Amino acid sequence: MSQTVESFQAYLKKMNHYQRVCALLSWDMYTKTPKQGYEGMADALTYFSTQLFTLSTSDELQKLLDALSQPEEFEQLNEAMQYTVRYMKREFEKDQRIPKEFFAEFVAAQSASMQAWEEAKRSSDFSLFAPHLEKMIDMTARQCAYTDPGRDVYEVLLDRYEEGMDSAAIDRVFEELKQGLIPLVKQILAAPQPDDSKFHTHFDADAQRKVQDLLLDYIGFSKEAGAVGESEHPFTLGFSMYDVRVTNHYYENDALSAMFSAIHEGGHAIFQQNARPDLEGTPAADCRYMGIHESQSRFYENILGRNRNFWLPVYPKIQELLPALKEISLEEFYREINHVRNSFIRTEADEVTYCLHIIIRYEIEQAIFRDHVPVSELPALWNKKMQEYLQITPSCDSEGILQDMHWADASFGYFPSYLLGNIYDGMYLETLESEMGCVDTILAEGNVLTITKWLNTKIHQYGNLRLPKDVIEKVCGRDLSAKPLLDYFTRKYTALYHL
Ligand code: ZN
Repeated sequence: MSQTVESFQAYLKKMNHYQRVCALLSWDMYTKTPKQGYEGMADALTYFSTQLFTLSTSDELQKLLDALSQPEEFEQLNEAMQYTVRYMKREFEKDQRIPKEFFAEFVAAQSASMQAWEEAKRSSDFSLFAPHLEKMIDMTARQCAYTDPGRDVYEVLLDRYEEGMDSAAIDRVFEELKQGLIPLVKQILAAPQPDDSKFHTHFDADAQRKVQDLLLDYIGFSKEAGAVGESEHPFTLGFSMYDVRVTNHYYENDALSAMFSAIHEGGHAIFQQNARPDLEGTPAADCRYMGIHESQSRFYENILGRNRNFWLPVYPKIQELLPALKEISLEEFYREINHVRNSFIRTEADEVTYCLHIIIRYEIEQAIFRDHVPVSELPALWNKKMQEYLQITPSCDSEGILQDMHWADASFGYFPSYLLGNIYDGMYLETLESEMGCVDTILAEGNVLTITKWLNTKIHQYGNLRLPKDVIEKVCGRDLSAKPLLDYFTRKYTALYHL
C-alpha cells in the first residue's frame, strides 16, 4: 500500500470518528436528552459538525484526493476506495464553490424559516411562512447556481436525492401512475368501506414494544448489529453497518402506527446492516439515494407488511401480546391495514392515495422552479390539486400546504424519492415473483427471511456503489416503469373492495 493510501485511510478514519460523535449526539438528543439539557447537546453538535466540515474541506484532504485521482494511484485502489475518492472529490469541489458567507447565511435563514413554519402551521396562517418560503426558494436557486452553474435548478435538486433520475423520467412514470390511480381511487372510495370501530381501543405501550421486537426479529433485523430507541417521530440512524438503530413512538389508542413504523424503519436498517463488509468505513457503505432507501423500507412496510399472509405466522403471537386484537380476526385486521381513505395528511395516508399526495408536491415544486408561480398563489394551487386528485379540499392551510417541513428547510426535490421508492417496489415485486414464485405463498409458509436474503443479494450488499437507475436495470432488467405498481394496486384493491 502506498504512503498516500495509508494517509488517506487514516484521514478517513479520523472523519469517521467525528461522524460517529455527531451521530451519537443526534441520537441522544432525539431519544433521551431532557429539555434543559438540549441546548448544551445542540452546542456540542454544532461544534463537532463544524470540525467535520473543516476536515472535509481541508487542503490536506484536497492534496490526498488529487494524488489518489492520478491514474497510476487510482488503479491500485480497490472498488470501495475508488468509489470513495471519486465521491469525496466531487463533494469537495461542490462545497468549494459555495462562498462561506452564503453558506452561513443560508443555515441561519433555514433555521429562521423552520421556526416560522412551526408557528405558521400551529396557527394555520400561511402569511407567517410565505416570506421565508420565498427566501428558501431564492437561496436554493442561488446555491444551485454556485454548485452547478448553468444547469436547470430543479434538475440539480432532483439529483441531490436520486442521482441520475431526471425530471423527464420522473414525469413519465408519475403521469403513468396518476392516470391509472385517479380512476382507481374514485372506484375504491365509492365502494363500501370496512368498519374500523374495533380498532378504537386501548393498546398497552409496553406490549407494543414487545410486538416491535417480534416484528424486527421476524423480518431479519439483527440485534447484534442494531438497537432500538424511542422518539417523537420514528427514524433510523446508522453509525456503521455494525450498529444501526431504529426508533419508534407508541400511541396507546393506535396499535397499527407503531407496528408499521417498526417494519418501515426495520427495512431501512436491514439495508444498512447488510452492506458488503469491505465497504465499511467508507461513504459507499450506506446508500445515500433516498428513493432506493425508501424502496427498501416501503417494500417491507407495504409490499410485505400489507400482505395478509405476512401476518399468518405471527398474528396469534401478536394477539397474545395485545389482547384487544383477540376480538379482531386476521381477515378484519388485513382489511383495516389496507383501508383506503382520501385524507389530508400525507404521513397518515394509505399506500394508494399516498402516491397522489407526492404527485401534488412534485407538480408544485415544478410550478415553483420552472414556472415561477408566486408563493402567494401556492396554497390555492395545492387545494385545487387536492380536489382534483383526491376529491377533498383542505379547510385550512395547516392540513394543506403547511403540513410538511420539507420546504421549510429547503429540502426541495426530496418528495419525489418517496414515490420513486414505491414505483421501484412494484418492479422488485414483479422480478421477485418471476424468480422465486408467488410472494403470497412464500409468506404463508413463514419464509419472509428468504425474501430478505433476496434483497440482501440483489440490493443491500452494494450499499451506495450503484446509481438508482443501475440498481433498477441490474435487478429488474428493464427500464423504469410504473406499470408493475399499478398492476399490484389494481389486483389487490379490486379483490379487497370487490370492484
Ligand atoms: Zn423511510
